[in-house]
Amino acid sequence: MEMEGKKAIVFGVANKRSIAWGVARRLHSLGAKLTLAYQGERFERSLAKLVQGEGIEDALLVPCDVTEEGAIERVFEAHTERWGELHQVVHSIAFARREELEGDFTATSRDGYRMAHEISAYSLIPMALAAKEHMGEEGGALIAMTYLASQRVVPNYNVMGSAKAALEHAVRQLAYELGPLAIRVNAVSAGPLQTVSARGVAGFADSYSAHADKTPLKRNITLEEAANAGVFLLSDLASGITGQTLFVDSGYSIMASL
Ligand code: NAD
Repeated sequence: MEMEGKKAIVFGVANKRSIAWGVARRLHSLGAKLTLAYQGERFERSLAKLVQGEGIEDALLVPCDVTEEGAIERVFEAHTERWGELHQVVHSIAFARREELEGDFTATSRDGYRMAHEISAYSLIPMALAAKEHMGEEGGALIAMTYLASQRVVPNYNVMGSAKAALEHAVRQLAYELGPLAIRVNAVSAGPLQTVSARGVAGFADSYSAHADKTPLKRNITLEEAANAGVFLLSDLASGITGQTLFVDSGYSIMASL
């Protein structure tokens, strides 16, 4: 696989365990040039260190809290100013309040529901609009990271399940709209990985260890496996694939008894 000459924006690197970091590292190792959009000041120093440690010093780092009006658009503008063109966009961000990720779904607050959907699902839409405006005639590809709780009940995921269902719908709707522009939109549905976001879900640590045994491969996936599937969907090898959700979950989602 070759990414020489490709320019990508990656949203969602918080630390070395972030799925976005796995994707960014792989894209870089294949020759792509990167813009990394991080949530805010809190992450700036650690991200700069991470990038240096990996030898990606030329990466453009841009702050972006997706709830701030105009922040997403500013990332795309900064990217185009720096790199001149855009081929790939990675959406790897999600958030729900800790209290919404435990107990009864009926306890979901109006504001918590709004916030989870705005950050985790809606944000893909302005990214796609900006991609449409910044990608050239040859088009490009977007990916988003999702989870099985969009389709099945996973205790405690609650409002994040709703947000992932909305995200997967947006992937299909955007694939339809952007297809004529040669822009593909797909999702990776990753099995559980030990990241900051995942640890916010009540009971995650216990379910993580129990999960491996219930999969056909009898193990949990690695960060690199989730990232590799994302990079595949971004690459020309996936040129005929759009609007899809690709499961990278050691086969867990095919099982009848979960
Ligand atoms: P992570 O905590 O490393 O990444 C989540 C990112 O979202 C962070 O970089 C955080 O800064 C960003 N974010 C949160 N609120 C934001 C805001 N307002 N503006 C901008 N950025 C914001 O965790 P992760 O597991 O790498 O999560 C990445 C994606 O993968 C998420 O969509 C998550 O739902 C999905 N996913 C994770 C798992 C898992 O088990 N870890 C499984 C399937 C899907």
